[in-house]
Amino acid sequence: MATTQATFQELKHAGLDEVDPEIARLLGDELERQRGQIELIASENFTWPAVFEAVGSVATNKYAEGYPGRRYYGGCEVIDEIEQLAIDRAKELFGAEHANVQPHAGAQTNMAVYAAVMEPGDTLMALALNQGGHLTHGHKVNFSGRLYRVAHYEVSRDTMTVDYEDVLAKAKEARPKVIVCGGSAYPRTVEADRFRAIADEVGALLLCDMAHFAGLVAASLHPNPVEHCDFVTSTTHKTLAGPRAGFILCREEHAKAVDSAVMPGMQGGPLEHTIAAKATCFRIAMTDAFREYQAQIRRNADSLAETLLEGGFSLVTGKAAEERLHQIDVTVNRNTIPFDERSPFVTSGIRLGSPAMTMRGFDEDDFREVGRIICAALTESPDLDALRDRVAALCAKHPLYEGFRGYTTYVA
Ligand SMILES: *Cc1c(COP(=O)(O)O)cnc(C)c1O
Repeated sequence: MATTQATFQELKHAGLDEVDPEIARLLGDELERQRGQIELIASENFTWPAVFEAVGSVATNKYAEGYPGRRYYGGCEVIDEIEQLAIDRAKELFGAEHANVQPHAGAQTNMAVYAAVMEPGDTLMALALNQGGHLTHGHKVNFSGRLYRVAHYEVSRDTMTVDYEDVLAKAKEARPKVIVCGGSAYPRTVEADRFRAIADEVGALLLCDMAHFAGLVAASLHPNPVEHCDFVTSTTHKTLAGPRAGFILCREEHAKAVDSAVMPGMQGGPLEHTIAAKATCFRIAMTDAFREYQAQIRRNADSLAETLLEGGFSLVTGKAAEERLHQIDVTVNRNTIPFDERSPFVTSGIRLGSPAMTMRGFDEDDFREVGRIICAALTESPDLDALRDRVAALCAKHPLYEGFRGYTTYVA
């Protein structure tokens, strides 16, 4: 490889395509994949160009263990301002008393809250993974299920919404220290107020994990859980459309415990380039333009759901559906449905989300076409070539990251 002969001086001025053409090519391939597929994975999004620039910034160079004004390293005066902006904006956006913007991802936000208020062996209560919860909500293979005793509540078979009688009955029996509401495949309103009443009745702390619907909360299109909860955790890369990361909101009385649980409890140096991008993402989330984007996500989800309900399918497993849709460049993930009789590897369901394609500019008509394509693909013997063409036409109508090569450009 030519680059192994590059001099130190050359490396100091070279961009990725010169230093590592293999990775540069693969990033270009990934951009083309994103451009050419209909992305319906509910937890994914296409972030803003401004976020790419912040993530690819010089803040990546800085060690800043500690918190603004209380660092274990020198030279943090600018980083302090960056992180403080991210904190202040998170608090303002969600009306929270305290924010910790250091968690590297969503999983760490829940780990930190649990560690802040529970000892190993204490009891945690949450929606089961196979009912729409998350691995970090007490699944047995996850740290949360290994460290803590777990009581899982379920959804009602009739309505597929949280069965509050079940929550109360199990909470009275299990006496959890922490109750978690919210999930990864729960496409309904998370009623933190109803969970609050139950938490109060059994003396539990309440955590809402709004990883999926934080964007809707920011846009006032979903009730804000902050007022009812002791803790609210979230990612920034799902509906919020920011960098891949997490953050925690909590009441002031828990601020110290949460901050120490994150650092020194479980993380070392924060990713300050990502924290800069979180600040930018929060700033964008305060705008009318963002609110309009979130409103469109909901309209598009409704439009897709209506079309799918009208269409009907004949294919039955989630795995087969995921594979079939992949053949026509539609990306989804298989998912268990509540009371699923198939294994988590096969599943009876697929999970669909509208945030990513709404970011690309898809409207209700486009989502109706997506719905019709999915229905047609899941019949007995679909014309896959024709369907692939329809997917390509939709993608061509809404270009992604025009003029971008897939990674930020270093201009000396
Ligand atoms: C996505 C998600 C997480 C974890 O986020 P990562 O960034 O993947 O660690 C946690 N909780 C819920 C409800 C999620 O949907």
